[in-house]
Amino acid sequence: MRIPGLIDPHVHMREPGGEHKEDWDTGTRAALAGGVTMLLAMPNTRPSVTDRETLRSALAAAASKAHCDYAQNLGAGSGNLMDAASLAPYTGALKMYLDQTFGTLKLDNMYDWMRHARNWPAGSPLCVHAEGPSLATAILLAQVYNRPVHLCHISLRSEIELIRAAKERGIPVTCEVTPHHLFLSTADIPSIGLGRSEVRPRLSSPNDVQAMWDNLDVIDCFATDHAPHTLAEKNGENPPPGFPGLESALPLYLTAVSQGRLTMDDVITRCVTNPRRIFHLPEQPETYVEIDPAETWTFSAANTFTRCGWTPYEGYRMTGRVTSVTLRGRVVYKDGKILSTPGTGRNIRPALPE
Ligand SMILES: [Zn+2]
Repeated sequence: MRIPGLIDPHVHMREPGGEHKEDWDTGTRAALAGGVTMLLAMPNTRPSVTDRETLRSALAAAASKAHCDYAQNLGAGSGNLMDAASLAPYTGALKMYLDQTFGTLKLDNMYDWMRHARNWPAGSPLCVHAEGPSLATAILLAQVYNRPVHLCHISLRSEIELIRAAKERGIPVTCEVTPHHLFLSTADIPSIGLGRSEVRPRLSSPNDVQAMWDNLDVIDCFATDHAPHTLAEKNGENPPPGFPGLESALPLYLTAVSQGRLTMDDVITRCVTNPRRIFHLPEQPETYVEIDPAETWTFSAANTFTRCGWTPYEGYRMTGRVTSVTLRGRVVYKDGKILSTPGTGRNIRPALPE
């Protein structure tokens, strides 16, 4: 069965500054193995991508290493207001952090939220990490400044219900949900392990997970929030938040399709059609993923390409598997092997001028 290449609008590549966890080479290999042919990279690297120089170096790393197509997102900081808007054409989206996560990009000053929401071009995507009460603020920014706002990794019943109400009133918000907020809950923490379960937003209650399924029509995108940290870090004193997700996401969706919980159309809409529209992404000609929807197999970190070396889905029985991936007419992944070379992936935005 042939499906379009997936688009993942929320991926952490960790380069620069966290290459022991992942880099553009291993991260985009993982993407292809998971049927993802285009991704947007988040800016909370070390240093964060917040200006022309850091954007240039992130794009240079991507250009030399990426195996799939990509764009690099820019971080909203307190000091890059004017610079950010001028870089809009060359970035995937602006990412604004209203709540704490991994990295240093959390914005505490409400003026900064207001200024970025007003200044960032309305025709360029704005993604917001906002949980609980600050989600209401993010929705209000969309309404007050009459601009699209994409709400990252929604995980709570209250959040998805508020988004439904906002959409019903015509407020221009869209949202994404991660596979771990669809397929895992607090009930899985004992088996995953306490440190390894650290993720932002946290794993939610079974009731919240059910709310995602009950409000599937409100969910615009499935996004992995692939956020690799090594097993040693996850098992250590201060386990950093984040799960790898690129290689397990499509198998989880296909398994849900085999169980009748999702349709293939549900998956394609949220992993291809909607992200392409929301983030103004180009079509990828002659790009597709061959899947065997009936193959049952066991997912294991031992067979993944991510550098982080673990998965919260160890030992999961999956139904449905990626057999090959073709990117712009070239077979880049087949039967568990990456066939592309680093640098095969293209920046889908215009090149940053010298
Ligand atoms: Zn993230």
